Parts: sequence; structure tokens; C-alpha cells
Amino acid sequence: MNKVLIVDDSATMRKIITRVLRQAEIPCNTVLEAGNGVEGLAKLASDPDIDLILSDINMPEMNGVDFVKAVRTAHAKEKLPMIMVTTEGGEAMMKNALDLGANGYVTKPFTPESIRAALEAYLG
Ligand SMILES: [Mg+2]
Repeated sequence: MNKVLIVDDSATMRKIITRVLRQAEIPCNTVLEAGNGVEGLAKLASDPDIDLILSDINMPEMNGVDFVKAVRTAHAKEKLPMIMVTTEGGEAMMKNALDLGANGYVTKPFTPESIRAALEAYLG
């Protein structure tokens, strides 16, 4: 995997996810970050070679569900996997995200093992 985009309104959570990706030994050269869906779309426009998105659901400006919807207008599910990062109790929102084209999800708190399991299918 060359370029991963992490979208979360918590800078701390973005750092944790980045660290867990390393701990899980997910091979990725570049990790990009965005604080909400609007920033995520801007990153995608400036870095069209992003090959995986990990996105939070609850964010200001544009939440993860609307972000999935927006990304899927231009990027097919088969070409650009989107894995949602969710909290316990977020099942309804998660179902919406999956219906709109998210590929899968991982529930917080996660471990290197659970991240790896969620991403396994997309590791080249
Ligand atoms: Mg959040």
C-alpha cells in the first residue's frame, strides 16, 4: 500500500491509528491526515493516488457517512477501499456508511490485530 488517508477530527486518534498501522506492520509509505470529510475530499483531490481511506464517522463539517457518499461519486469501491473507524453504539450510522459504499469497519478501541484483520483483504 502506497498512500493511506486517515480522516478523524481527533488529532490524537489520527496519531493512534498511524501508530497502530505501524504496529500491525501494514506496509504503507505515506500516511496523510484530514480532520473531517471536507478536508478528506481536498486531500483526495490533491493526492489522487491515495489507495486506502480509514475514516471516523462522527466529525464536524462533514461526517463519515456523507464523506463515503461524496467519495463514491468519483471513486469506485473496488478501486479505493474505505474502512470506517467506529465506536460502540454507532451501528445505525455504520449501516448507512456500508450501504453507501464503505468496504468495512473497525471498532474502537482497536488493536494491531483488529486493524490488520479489517485491512487484510486490501493489502497488496
Ligand atoms: Mg470523531
